[in-house]
Amino acid sequence: MKPNGTSLNTLSTNGIHLNGNGHNHGLTDELVDDMGDNHASANLETPLRDDAFALDDDLKIDLIEEHFREIMTILGLDLTDDSLKGTPRRVAKMYVNETFKGLNPANKPSTTLFENKYQYNQMLVERDITVQSYCEHHFVPIIGKAHVAYISSGKVIGLSKLNRIVQHFAKRPQVQERLTMQIADELKRALQTEDVAVIIDAAHLCVSTRGVNDTASSTLTAAYSGKFDEEATRQEFLKYVGMKPTM
Ligand SMILES: [Zn+2]
Repeated sequence: MKPNGTSLNTLSTNGIHLNGNGHNHGLTDELVDDMGDNHASANLETPLRDDAFALDDDLKIDLIEEHFREIMTILGLDLTDDSLKGTPRRVAKMYVNETFKGLNPANKPSTTLFENKYQYNQMLVERDITVQSYCEHHFVPIIGKAHVAYISSGKVIGLSKLNRIVQHFAKRPQVQERLTMQIADELKRALQTEDVAVIIDAAHLCVSTRGVNDTASSTLTAAYSGKFDEEATRQEFLKYVGMKPTM
């Protein structure tokens, strides 16, 4: 029995068809679990639909609210309860305005390049940048730190822009490998140099609070290019961020 109103299968809005039919993905439940636990992903680009931004944010919030209410109702929760009744709208606003804000390229931080007047031509490292992302396989948080570095090609950007670039790509459904590479790519583009490095060290709540329930492990990913492909430069970077240079 369906709760009154909305069809759970297909939602059609402004000609956009969102397939919500649980079994049209061509995967068995077992394969779905495996892919999630192995965090398999094939693309550097976040897989987005061509019409990803055809709906405006207000409409997205209204639709997500409606569908999140359905999820809670199916779970058996009483949405007339004072504590629960605002939850669907809160979740919808959080998804669109905060958690997944980085999906929209319009929200990408603009980066102004400055001349490197003082001719600082050594490595610049910004370490312990807060990373708060979301696992795209389980929709639970990934929380950790990023260390980024570059060697100026003659241009520099404001330090806080490094944090903002990390945050922008984190605010998407992600896998950590892709997040690392997307940040590195944007740094190269913004700084007009190949000489960039990114390390992310993060805990995945899908690993710590479900599945294997391992609360102690963290996942390390790294992207090096240009001069950071050279042994000495890489070791220097690892030393600055407090990681034991081994390789
Ligand atoms: Zn996960």
